[in-house]
Amino acid sequence: MLHPDFSGNKARKFYYFFHHDLPHVKKIVSYGSAQSNAMYSLSVLAKMRGWEFAYYVDHVAEYLRENPHGNYKGALDNGMQLRDLRQAQIPKDPQSFPEFVEGKNDLLFIEEGGRQKEAEYGIKLLAQEIIDWQEENNVKMLNVFLPSGTGTTALFLQKSFSCLTPHASGLTRVYTTPCVGNSDYLKKQFFELERNENDHPHILTLEKKHHFGKLYRENYKIWLKLHEETGVVFDLLYDPLGWRVLLAHPEVFSKPTLYIHQGGVLGNESMLPRYKRKYPELKGSGDL
Ligand SMILES: *Cc1c(COP(=O)(O)O)cnc(C)c1O
Repeated sequence: MLHPDFSGNKARKFYYFFHHDLPHVKKIVSYGSAQSNAMYSLSVLAKMRGWEFAYYVDHVAEYLRENPHGNYKGALDNGMQLRDLRQAQIPKDPQSFPEFVEGKNDLLFIEEGGRQKEAEYGIKLLAQEIIDWQEENNVKMLNVFLPSGTGTTALFLQKSFSCLTPHASGLTRVYTTPCVGNSDYLKKQFFELERNENDHPHILTLEKKHHFGKLYRENYKIWLKLHEETGVVFDLLYDPLGWRVLLAHPEVFSKPTLYIHQGGVLGNESMLPRYKRKYPELKGSGDL
């Protein structure tokens, strides 16, 4: 709800680059999946700042290439220069990207999914908004839940709570679940961004293994139910697992619990038709 095009947790993660001067920057270079929410948000950022945007993918699904939609179409419409490596390896360090020229520093390199330290800047503002809301509403203790990809949002949120409310340290706990890899992967991500384990979010999981992007009946069912009961449209990649994990851990609800909607609904343009085709017997209400 921050802005029609620049929203969700990606707007928080990229806020540093939106808000600072950076007069040397002319172009963003990043990489990842051709459907990614981060890719779309970077295309909006580049457009707003008058920068170019080159984005590397190792493949684009044929169906998507022939029928552009969702984040992919949105980013291309914003002028993204798509570099399809056609199964070739994406370079491992910024210096290996073709855009890089020794001695020039007009590139802004963004890690996949916005996994970088500058994300802390915007996420801290989110933490402060939550703290203000707690004060206004006299909510002393709070559990916060949000599903993770890279874990950057959850990590910096927990860290910001510790740092903004040192006297109440530990009162606001951040819970998350890994949607992309497993708990070990997520833990590793946390350590790469913050060495102090006291500032790491608490990881919850389901017993069964979950594959990112796979169409699970349970995920679709809970997404439809959430819409029916709350009127809120959640994203179809992260939130269904997030809610399933949260509801499987009722101990979290021993304190008032805040679930953070992280945006990403433009990505539903590709996920929803796939779910509808796979589970035609499951139906939503109204416009779903
Ligand atoms: C990117 C994204 C996430 C994951 O954010 P991380 O900071 O990478 O953990 C979760 N939900 C939605 C809707 C997203 O777009």
